[in-house]
Amino acid sequence: MPGFTKMREKLFYYSTNRYLNQQKGGKPHDNVSFREALLMGQAPDEGLFMPETIPQLSLNDILKLKGRPYPDAALLVAEAYLGADLPLETLKSVIESSYNYEVPLEKVVDRRYILRLDRGPTASFKDFAARMMARLMSHFRDPGKRLNVLVATSGDTGSAVGEAFKGVPGIDVYILYPRDEVSGRQKKQLDTIGGNVRTLSVEGKFDDCQNLVKQAFADASLSGLNLTSANSINFGRILPQMIYYVYAYAQLAEWGEEIVFSVPSGNFGDALGCEYARRMGLPVARLVMPTNENDEFPRFLETGLYEKIAPSRACLSNAMNVGHPSNLARFFDLYGGTVDRTGVVHKMPDLEAMRKHIFSVAVSDEETRQTIRRVYDQYGLLLEPHGAVGWRGLEQYLAQSGETSLCVSLETAHPAKFPEEIESLLGIIPELPASMRDIDLRSGEPLLMTADYESFRRFLITTLKAID
Ligand SMILES: *Cc1c(COP(=O)(O)O)cnc(C)c1O
Repeated sequence: MPGFTKMREKLFYYSTNRYLNQQKGGKPHDNVSFREALLMGQAPDEGLFMPETIPQLSLNDILKLKGRPYPDAALLVAEAYLGADLPLETLKSVIESSYNYEVPLEKVVDRRYILRLDRGPTASFKDFAARMMARLMSHFRDPGKRLNVLVATSGDTGSAVGEAFKGVPGIDVYILYPRDEVSGRQKKQLDTIGGNVRTLSVEGKFDDCQNLVKQAFADASLSGLNLTSANSINFGRILPQMIYYVYAYAQLAEWGEEIVFSVPSGNFGDALGCEYARRMGLPVARLVMPTNENDEFPRFLETGLYEKIAPSRACLSNAMNVGHPSNLARFFDLYGGTVDRTGVVHKMPDLEAMRKHIFSVAVSDEETRQTIRRVYDQYGLLLEPHGAVGWRGLEQYLAQSGETSLCVSLETAHPAKFPEEIESLLGIIPELPASMRDIDLRSGEPLLMTADYESFRRFLITTLKAID
């Protein structure tokens, strides 16, 4: 990997709720360093952390990445944010151990590509962010203290986070999942990680798991246990998601050429990475953000009225069943607006600017299925439901805009994670990716837990180690 000679200014992070707080007569919190943002996860005023300034990349530096391996792109982007916070050698080793798998760019048809983000250990794009965040946390934790990560999951996030922290020094992970709400294969992925990662199978629903975790974080009597969260609102998970846009652009584009990215979206963390990459200088003509039938955002772009969807609609692309995306607060903030955790808009963003840079459209389950069938017949391209939403959204955008730019659509999970759906649509059984091939042979058992807080608390007090 190349080195850098530039001196970086240390970046600080503010909360998306800062105006809200002032309106209420509160004092704005001091901005925090990356380390604090990473270890706190969420700001004390319940807003999300944002960098005060967005570092810039030169087109020259970006295009030097052409033909280079993924870790080189990761270093260019990560150094721009963290160059003043940790030594270059540390950053390099974080990156090299995070990104030791393929990142295929597949040509579908003239100037249209699929970026496959499904080759990590749990076969979803969440591996990209979780692996780098885990290693950064290990680096930034207080020396001598063990960090205890608590995660509530309904499936994919838990296994990505668990695998990411596996074997990471100084950190133990406890994953809570609802006993009767995860699939057999998901359960296998979770329970068999082992080592410093333990699973608790909770007699209850996902909400019960989340409540247990929230109560533990709020419980002052547990403050000695160094509890932390690894959820998707942590800025440490946004930063790694800027990298693959820069990487893909560098591999495919000619000097200064513009590119369109299509990003199937749920909580908007993935798409936010693209928004930041554009603001760092990447020539992105348009960010296409297709959703499934949870269409609160495309409706907002069209009408200017924001209405969250509660409860969220259960669609085929289940990792995107989100009725109020948590990272919407960050998008609003970048466009001059404020929306809170409950979905109330306090200040409108610049809607015209948003429409200029972002295109969003809802894709129904029916269209998702048709797309999987059609692109397989037409191009021999195998997509799973999330990737199909992305591709369909791109088609809709191109039909409406007449745009002819270079386009990349993201495939965010491996088709083998949806064997029944793929088999019923295409009559084939997708082959498991290398990382999952031995899944049925792995063994491991969860701890069984009732959904009452007192027993969870007792478990934490008797099990967790706070000293390394
Ligand atoms: C989480 C997830 C998404 C949605 O990503 P967001 O960052 O929440 O918008 C899309 N596809 C898959 C497979 C996912 O796991």
